[in-house]
Amino acid sequence: MPELPEVETFKRFLDSTSLHRRITGVGVRDAYVLRGISARELARRLNGRRFENSIRHGKHLFVRAGDDPSSPRLRRASLWLRLHFGMTGSLEYLRHDEVPPKTARVIFRFADNCRLAFDDQRKFGEIELIESVDEFLRTRHLGPDALEISLAQFRATLGKRRGAVKAILLNQQLIAGIGNLYADEILFRARSHPAGESTSVSDKDLTRLFRAMRHVLGKAITLKTDYDRLPKSWLLTHRGKAGRCPRCGRALKSATIGGRTSWFCAYCQKRA
Ligand SMILES: [Zn+2]
Repeated sequence: MPELPEVETFKRFLDSTSLHRRITGVGVRDAYVLRGISARELARRLNGRRFENSIRHGKHLFVRAGDDPSSPRLRRASLWLRLHFGMTGSLEYLRHDEVPPKTARVIFRFADNCRLAFDDQRKFGEIELIESVDEFLRTRHLGPDALEISLAQFRATLGKRRGAVKAILLNQQLIAGIGNLYADEILFRARSHPAGESTSVSDKDLTRLFRAMRHVLGKAITLKTDYDRLPKSWLLTHRGKAGRCPRCGRALKSATIGGRTSWFCAYCQKRA
């Protein structure tokens, strides 16, 4: 499931392939993905515009669609295309006659005939047009992005909120961007037990958790979230049945915490 590092990787991909070119068509192959807009309306509102820049917040990607500067019509206000990648979403860039994947759900065509495809095998992705990113974040009550939150904010969030540490890391309204895999990885690196009570974690351990969060997310982005290149010392490459702790070699344990399956080492990760 795409989490903050995957969405950041999609953002960089989109920025390097799809900006500043006139949009000449939007093909919707499966309308489940559209939120509050019809396929026809999406195409009508985007045609003639250009993707100018993008912003990521948590697991959401917002792409600004500006007006065509050469258009003689009255200038229209910017729109934002919001992409959420659900469980299996991704972006593909297609040159000229390259064939889109079967599971491409929406295809944006540019003036040079290249295309950007929103691919989504399991159909949990979302696309919509919004006028203001700030307003969207406010109405969804999304917390600060996990790479933007300060240590002081992080400590205040975890220190005053009762519940399992992992459930708090997963709560998008408290900290946006972390999902199941990276939450386990962050807790493993910080040697914190996922079910530990958040308000009992010491300041020192909260600082360690904060540093682990920044390190894990940053490193995954640097490696473009290529699982084959992630360090062998990470839990991610060992999690699952018969998995062993890459630090101490003991068998990993699993438990349902915050509604999700957690993998951890009961020896290395002590409860607060
Ligand atoms: Zn261990």
